[in-house]
Parts: sequence; C-alpha cells; structure tokens
Amino acid sequence: MKQLQDKIRQEGKVIGTNILKVDSFLNHQVDPELMANIGKEFAKYFKDKRITKVFTIESSGIAPAMMTALNLNVPLVILKKQSSKILNGDVYQTKVESFTKGTTYELTLSKNYIEKEDNILIIDDFLAHGEAASGAIRLVTEAGATVSGIGIVIEKSFQIGREKLESQDMDVYSLARIAKLGAEGVIFIED
Ligand code: 5GP
Repeated sequence: MKQLQDKIRQEGKVIGTNILKVDSFLNHQVDPELMANIGKEFAKYFKDKRITKVFTIESSGIAPAMMTALNLNVPLVILKKQSSKILNGDVYQTKVESFTKGTTYELTLSKNYIEKEDNILIIDDFLAHGEAASGAIRLVTEAGATVSGIGIVIEKSFQIGREKLESQDMDVYSLARIAKLGAEGVIFIED
C-alpha cells in the first residue's frame, strides 16, 4: 500500500536492525485518514471470506482493526493482555510472549463474544515472530470457530512470523512488507 510505505519512509524510526517505531501515525499518535484507507484495503481483500467478526490485540491493533470492522460491517473484539490467569470459566486464555517487551501475558477472550459459527479476521499492527497472531488463532480454535484471514499493517518479512502463520494454513495479507531494517533505513521487499 503506497500511502503506508511513503508514511513509513517519511516518519518511521529504525532501531538497530529489528525494530521499527511508528509512533507518529500508528502506535502513539494515530493518523485517522491513513487508518480509514487501511480499513478499506483490508475489507476489499477479505470481502469474500464471509467474515463475522474482526479480532485484534490491545492496544496498537485497535485503530486499523476498527476501520476494517466498520468497512466489513461486523463487530470488533479486542483481545486483552492480562498479567495472570483468570480462574473462572468465563474466558479463553493462552500464554503469549511479547516481542518488544520480552515478557509474557495471558491473551484473553470472553466466551460471550465468540460462537462456533464465527469466521474471524485477525488484524494486528506488526508481524514479527507471529506469537501474538498464533495466540489469537489458539483462542479462536479453542472456541470451535474459524480463522478466515490475518491482516497485518507492517510485516517484518525477515523474521519468522509469516512462515509460522502460513504453516498453519493461514491467508496472511500484509500492507507493507519490510525486507530489511538498518543504517540505510527501511527496505521494502519490492525495492
Ligand atoms: P509477534 O507476536 O509477531 O512476535 O510480534 C508482534 C507484536 O509485537 C505486535 O503486536 C507489536 O505490538 C509488537 N512488535 C513487533 N515488532 C515490532 C516493531 O518493530 N515495532 C513495533 N512498534 N512493534 C512491534
């Protein structure tokens, strides 16, 4: 998506060779016009998948996921990052390792917001090692529902996330795919 690539080139900050900071338009301040176009793009790609709900992971996935849900005319469900297990039976939970923080959390979904018949589209801001998305897949699968697609705003294609998701037969659509981060800046796979 050209508008997104241009924005990453103009405003993205490369930290070492692994991390890209996009605080000025996605992770701290948010560009609503860009989010609206991201939502339209995901909705166009996944329009024939009979999506019934969009799932995302708090908090940076919420803005693009909300615009996608609006365009698909379905509810948005925000998976919570809890610090510990909830011991009543009202939720599904799975342990996820945080890429940026090096900690773990319990990804949590209330049983009230998923049915066996649901076709879920998972949207997230970044794909690195695929841990967050794999956790979301485990929750949907545990509920007996189906993951019908995964939409990623920024994929770091030099890390193993895409491979991990495709090995689970997932249709992964990323709007920007980064081949390399370094002193020369951001290199996209099309470059
Ligand atoms: P994964 O679970 O795929 O290893 O990592 C994805 C999650 O880690 C994303 O939800 C995102 O919050 C965070 N993340 C991974 N890599 C980056 C990065 O380069 N920049 C930022 N801002 N977040 C990242």
